[in-house]
Amino acid sequence: MPPQSLAPAAAVLAGVKAAVHEIYDTALIRKLDAQHYMHPFTDHAALKEKGVRVMVRGDGIYLWDSEGNKSLDGMSGLWCVNVGYGRTRISEAVYKQMETLPFYNSFFNTTNVPAVRLAALLVELSPPQFNHVFFTGSGSEANDTNLRMVRRYWDLMGYQGRHTIISRYNAYHGSTLAGSALGGMEGMHEQAGMIPGIEHIGQPNYLESGQGMSENEFGLVAAGWLEKKILEVGADKVAAFIGEPVQGAGGVIIPPATYWPEIQRICDKYGILLIADEVICGFGRLGAWFGSELMQIKPDLITFAKGVTSGYVPLGGVLVGDRVAKVLIDKGGDFNHGFTYSGHPVACAAALENLHILLEEKLVEKVALETGPYLKAKFAALADHPLVGFANSCGFVAGLNLVRKKAANVHDSEYFQPDQSVGMICRGHMFENGMIMRAVGDRMIIAPPLVMTCAQIDEMVAKIRFCLDATLADLQQRGWM
Ligand code: PMP
Repeated sequence: MPPQSLAPAAAVLAGVKAAVHEIYDTALIRKLDAQHYMHPFTDHAALKEKGVRVMVRGDGIYLWDSEGNKSLDGMSGLWCVNVGYGRTRISEAVYKQMETLPFYNSFFNTTNVPAVRLAALLVELSPPQFNHVFFTGSGSEANDTNLRMVRRYWDLMGYQGRHTIISRYNAYHGSTLAGSALGGMEGMHEQAGMIPGIEHIGQPNYLESGQGMSENEFGLVAAGWLEKKILEVGADKVAAFIGEPVQGAGGVIIPPATYWPEIQRICDKYGILLIADEVICGFGRLGAWFGSELMQIKPDLITFAKGVTSGYVPLGGVLVGDRVAKVLIDKGGDFNHGFTYSGHPVACAAALENLHILLEEKLVEKVALETGPYLKAKFAALADHPLVGFANSCGFVAGLNLVRKKAANVHDSEYFQPDQSVGMICRGHMFENGMIMRAVGDRMIIAPPLVMTCAQIDEMVAKIRFCLDATLADLQQRGWM
């Protein structure tokens, strides 16, 4: 018998048991959720009032909740379920690995077979400058690793104090202290505080800042903000620039074609390391194995997570380019950094199976040549809707801006007031009608599973149009249009 103080209350045990065994007792699960589960990025007071939606099953591009409602998952879970739900191959690989060796660490001169095989496969799939991989448990941890690696690199190179990393406002690089500081989300900075040596420049958001310019002119101007910041900080103090090839959580901000090559030129000019955060863009999301290939840049470090396992189990990491790896390995001695779960054998087994699915089903090529262009055309056609001011996509990420009144030139459109929360209203209509689409302000975004077929794209776009109509009727009824 455990001492009285350690025995869980009988009522709690009964509740948990009922929730586990009767997973469709939605009311009970909601109650326990409200009582005990702290969710990420959530206003809990508001959540308690509304109650959560309980997801219970996924298959392909569809999800079902505990009340039997079916949804089309336009967000791949959270930008990650690239091969779709219900892939038995991955669960079998995970089961087999758990039976054989569920865990061993990679410290103290040991390794495990899935981690080695995965590192080798990632090197094969990635651009030629990458021959090493450092594993983490998440994208945030991978960006913490980046920060430590680039600072260590410059120290070893004899440039003590060359520690500043330049990032962009509205970037998302994770939620650990370093991840949130590297990111450019002001709401996170306010709550978490900043760490020293991180600077931010404007994002390449043509809609926001490109008035009076062509997209390509604006791309050069936005990249120029990096050079300005380097000169302000002092080139000998700047260690690296970090950016997502296409900003995801910030609202699917697709940069002009001129932006990234100019960023590369500036990094080369000042010898600054370039970090591509490909947590979203990697593994086929943009129709290339890595977004940096599409953007024609040659990063020194690539952050990955999400799509590497299609989210089936957590895994992240850093692809370490030769420039950095050589110095850390040849000159570095101990790199005092790592995680219990670095190279977790079960996570690596899941990743291997997931990458084999991507390869065998040629999903990256499919997004590049077939379904990506199809989505682009169908999504762009939504711009004829009275609520849509601008719609664009890149591979399998896409976004559209809701406007009160559109104009021929996107910069002349009239927008809603931020406190009207029109994006959230639209998202509500989407959810009610079985379409999962995310709102970032008044920009509605998607990142569907890469297995989505052209017929399913038609189904998704029809659903989106139906929900835009419902939103329009709602806004007209409120007298906002
Ligand atoms: N970088 C980017 C670009 C991301 O989109 C995310 C997650 N959305 C992260 C880093 C952080 O990854 P994680 O949530 O796995 O820590």
